[in-house]
Amino acid sequence: MDDLTGYLADVHRRVLPFTDGEVASYIPALAEADPEPFGIAIATVDGQLHEAGDSRTQFSLQSVSKPFTYALALQEAGFEAVDAAIDVEPSGEAYNMISLQDETGHPDNALINAGAIAATSLLPHKGRMSRLLRFYSSLADRQLHADASIAMEEVENGHRNLAMAHLMRSFDVLGDDPVETTRDYCAACATMITAADLAWMAATLANSGRQPTTGEQLVEPLVVQRVLSVMTMSGMYDEAGWWMVRVGLPGKSGVGGGLIAVAPGQLGLAAFSPRLNEHGSSVRGVRTCEVVSRELDLHVMGSR
Ligand code: GLU
Repeated sequence: MDDLTGYLADVHRRVLPFTDGEVASYIPALAEADPEPFGIAIATVDGQLHEAGDSRTQFSLQSVSKPFTYALALQEAGFEAVDAAIDVEPSGEAYNMISLQDETGHPDNALINAGAIAATSLLPHKGRMSRLLRFYSSLADRQLHADASIAMEEVENGHRNLAMAHLMRSFDVLGDDPVETTRDYCAACATMITAADLAWMAATLANSGRQPTTGEQLVEPLVVQRVLSVMTMSGMYDEAGWWMVRVGLPGKSGVGGGLIAVAPGQLGLAAFSPRLNEHGSSVRGVRTCEVVSRELDLHVMGSR
């Protein structure tokens, strides 16, 4: 499409009227968030950025951090160590389910909370959060920071995450102290991001791990292949099946209202709008991905 920016403005206009859903309410920072902003961004593998609406509004990364934390763990700890702790099976369950295998205590995959906490624990303890921030920043090609008060609220209200971390520690799945691992997981969730940043992060995955503007190979191609496979099966929790049928792209949502979809070899699509559906994904974000995937013919299983 020649005028992708004009096209996104049109998609924005068509999706804007969808005001159903509720903002996340488990921490004050999200409960009090303005529900209205709506931004869309597409970054192409040849380094073009197209944006519409509130694509530069900051919000917390939340679970959209998970595929990138998984990528870093695979890259730094290696496939063997990561696979010894985290399975790659679709759980089809809500993000915070205590879905650990009975015998082994393994989380089903790295994109539910338990799996993301385990992936965090496999990164070297010292300077872990700065390492994660540096990695996210290099993917976005912008210096990012974590919001300390959101991170603190996540920790204060993260009883279930902490409980899962302790449970995994009892199975020897966790590579580090449960309290400190959960603290870093929460800080990663509190990274402040925009739809434009997310589009670049998704486009890096679409581009086999090479950041499209800097040209830096940030993620090994085999790691990208693994991360996209798991995103395809499990990125959208208990609506992963419906998402795959309707959008047909590896995707990941977060309760801050951010959402990414990756069209391999082509582009990264990102949307931000805080009202969530019952699965914890942005209503307008999901709608945007459905429309764009259909109209730009992006479904990985071929044309409709
Ligand atoms: N910080 C959230 C949690 O761990 C992330 C959940 C999400 O974005 O799906 O509960």
